[in-house]
Amino acid sequence: MQQRKTREVSIGSISLGAGHGIAVQSMTATRTQDLEATLRQVRLLEAAGADLIRIAIDTVKDVDALAWLRPQTTANIVVDLQENYRLAEKVAPFVQKLRYNPGHLYHLERSKPVAEKVRYLVDVAREHDCAIRIGVNCGSVDPEKLSKYDKDDSITPMVESAAEHCQMLDEMGFHRYVVSLKDSDPNKVIEANVRFSEARPDVPLHLGVTEAGMPPDGIIKTRIAFEQLISRGIGDTIRVSLTLPFERKGEEVTVGRQILADIASGRFRSVPKFEQKGLNIISCPSCSRVENEAFIDLALSVREMTEYAKEHRITIAVMGCRVNGPGETDDADLGMWCAPSFVNLKKGTTTIGQFTYDEILGRLRLELDKLIEEKSAAHQPA
Ligand code: SF4
Repeated sequence: MQQRKTREVSIGSISLGAGHGIAVQSMTATRTQDLEATLRQVRLLEAAGADLIRIAIDTVKDVDALAWLRPQTTANIVVDLQENYRLAEKVAPFVQKLRYNPGHLYHLERSKPVAEKVRYLVDVAREHDCAIRIGVNCGSVDPEKLSKYDKDDSITPMVESAAEHCQMLDEMGFHRYVVSLKDSDPNKVIEANVRFSEARPDVPLHLGVTEAGMPPDGIIKTRIAFEQLISRGIGDTIRVSLTLPFERKGEEVTVGRQILADIASGRFRSVPKFEQKGLNIISCPSCSRVENEAFIDLALSVREMTEYAKEHRITIAVMGCRVNGPGETDDADLGMWCAPSFVNLKKGTTTIGQFTYDEILGRLRLELDKLIEEKSAAHQPA
């Protein structure tokens, strides 16, 4: 596999870019403050051979948990900062990389210019020998960028947001960063990364289909994107996002390695383009932010309950929390995102209501039947 000559970025004991092999990473799905459960996930990922392990941090208590975890592992740890970027200085001493999401930087200190917040992250990263990932995600793109383009064009705002933040870091003289552009649609992942790599061929890329869902569908979507990008030499590290029971988290790494091995030996399984034929279930891989740990069972139950509708070209999204839940479910025909004691149900961008974890499957069935009827009526000759 001929990789693009991106610049070298060192992250703890590994380096990305500049022809270094493609690193495989994953993320813990447990609540970070659940020390034993999170350490167990770290152990599973280490055993599976993860080059990097990401952990979500949202509160000072999460930082304390990571401080406890740090001496228990030699893994290269990445911290995932979403809404609370100010925790960077507290958590940086324990990690090798900081991931921030440009689309969530506006939450805190709304009057403060984004460039000042990025400057803060750069200063912290420099001080603590950390690399940075600019992590753009389809479910939470910078609203300012989104408003500039037609609502059907979700890719240009993503690429522009990533390029803008690259320029900011370059102007601050900080070059130890990588970029990711993730969507739940593999075709959009391919296009966004191809367009970005044309604009910035020097920047290492972290590839991933976000909220790819449960195996095997989640693996198929991910494989299509990775095969099309890596075969073009695009991609310096990968994460396979799968909705899995906690004990099977290591599969994200083993699946990633298998896809890389297949690509390297020319065993391509993907057709050139991903075409959604029947039912498409989008679900996030869960992380510390999950509002209710029943989320993974809910996602598995949704897949089971909707089996009867698998012929219908309908997208159902199941998301673990509000970080990417509201945005990601906007693009689905029926979308659910979890809250602590109830689940929000939407039809496209319209909220249907909030239902308890016991009620939600029954209500989803109702809405799905209605939608199938509407779609088949729409296709009936007048
Ligand atoms: S949607 Fe929420 S729970 Fe799911 S992976 Fe993203 S941040 Fe974590």
